[in-house]
Amino acid sequence: MQIIDGKSLSKKVQLSVKAEVEKLKREKNIVPGLAVIIVGNDPASHAYVSMKEKACKAVGFYSIAHKMPESITEDEIVQIITMMNNNPHIHGILVQLPLPKHIDTTKILEVIDPKKDVDGFHAYNVGRMVTNLDSFVACTPLGVMKMFDEYNIELEGKDVVVVGASNIVGKPMASLLLNRNATVTITHIYTKDLASHTKKADIIIVGVGVVNLIKEDMVKDGAVVIDIGINRLEDGSLVGDVDFKRVAPKCSYITPVPGGVGPMTIAMLLSNTLKATKEFGENL
Ligand code: NAD
Repeated sequence: MQIIDGKSLSKKVQLSVKAEVEKLKREKNIVPGLAVIIVGNDPASHAYVSMKEKACKAVGFYSIAHKMPESITEDEIVQIITMMNNNPHIHGILVQLPLPKHIDTTKILEVIDPKKDVDGFHAYNVGRMVTNLDSFVACTPLGVMKMFDEYNIELEGKDVVVVGASNIVGKPMASLLLNRNATVTITHIYTKDLASHTKKADIIIVGVGVVNLIKEDMVKDGAVVIDIGINRLEDGSLVGDVDFKRVAPKCSYITPVPGGVGPMTIAMLLSNTLKATKEFGENL
């Protein structure tokens, strides 16, 4: 069994982004700029945003966070995004999800200029990703793909079960795998017998938010298990969706939580923002 070390892979990605940022500054006098919009006081969302700001600083990006009160209207968020769309120093825009209930998330995401949509949530980018065209791809599934490539894990012809079918995790994950010729099954809360699917899988990717959802008897010997889930236990510790201790010995590869997919998500945000900046630079 080999642990897929997301922490060190993310550091490797960050170093290569940093080198490219220095080159962009030197050769084109461009500094990548990321704007983050966060609404409300959810502590987890604020923690993610400060991690993102810290990562931006470490690679030499310019970043600004628009911290908005829960009471903000849809129109006010649209105004901020429009301002960022028109700001030439901002190459990437990210709206931290979830938004409060009174805000229409889809409407907000669609206001972002697709060329600055570094989270890859705009329908334009989603459509291009599904049709296997160049696009911005959601950071978490993109980070998982990066892990497969780094560890030379073959995808073509493999039976892959994706557990969880959200727009930001499961669905883009399944599309990327299909683009690489895997045989993909997507499962979710309404799936009748989850274990009957996972037991047959060469690769299981789970992003649900349920502690110990994937147990030892649901995984075949030699499977690759990728745990996207993040759950905070009462003692404050973080765990994923996989019963790691019991499942790991059966696997050929497995990701830990923390230190697996989480750091890759931030690394891919940096990489997407760099991509947006380079494309902006090409059009100058
Ligand atoms: P979501 O609530 O939008 O979607 C959850 C999905 O899981 C849904 O498709 C639902 O049908 C399915 N589901 C729920 N209970 C299930 C069950 N018992 N069996 C099978 N499927 C079930 O959540 P999300 O935003 O996609 O996030 C999912 C998890 O991934 C959360 O734990 C979140 O914290 C984590 N996450 C991690 C990262 C990262 O960087 N590692 C990024 C995004 C989300």
